[in-house]
Amino acid sequence: MQIHDLNFQLLLSATQILCRVQEIAAQLSDQYKTKCPLFISILNGAFVFAADLIKSYSGPCEITFVKIQSYSGTSSSGILQTVLGLEQSIEGRDLIILEDIVDSGKTLHFFIDSLQQQKPHSICTVSLLYKPNAIQFPIHLDYVGFEIANDFVIGYGLDYNGLGRNLPDLHVLAQN
Ligand code: 5GP
Ligand code: MG
Repeated sequence: MQIHDLNFQLLLSATQILCRVQEIAAQLSDQYKTKCPLFISILNGAFVFAADLIKSYSGPCEITFVKIQSYSGTSSSGILQTVLGLEQSIEGRDLIILEDIVDSGKTLHFFIDSLQQQKPHSICTVSLLYKPNAIQFPIHLDYVGFEIANDFVIGYGLDYNGLGRNLPDLHVLAQN
């Protein structure tokens, strides 16, 4: 499949993804059964994952969205710019962060840092995809949907220069 100038091939089917998302949702439902967690989904990429996951989550919960962009200054320091921030207090709340993919770890590392300063009761980190070979910033992931190789992927909410978010399956950049 061609998107802009690049070729992509199937990596994970919509069915495979949904199966795994439902497994994670069931585990979270059990873990938080006596609580009312606040899901925080990181836009744009995680919106499809968040929608599927929350539909399979049973029990009271809330969901909100943030949009953050990471700028690498000169090196590894990294600054996060909040484009769309949290509207409500998270003090004392049980947070479940939903991310589409963890690559260098920069986005999640600095986002978790900023959340911790607002004194939530707990923070659980969930990423649909994780590239272990790309990690540069220390982060702890409580739930990972799939570990994948260090290759560029699109579909299921993830884009290549704006396109591909609507694809139901996940596709990876073809090697040739
Ligand atoms: P990190 O801050 O961990 O380096 O990168 C996280 C963000 O980079 C993700 O939320 C996602 O928006 C983007 N990203 C990282 N890897 C990929 C990829 O393979 N495909 C796409 N479409 N976006 C990616
Ligand atoms: Mg993202």
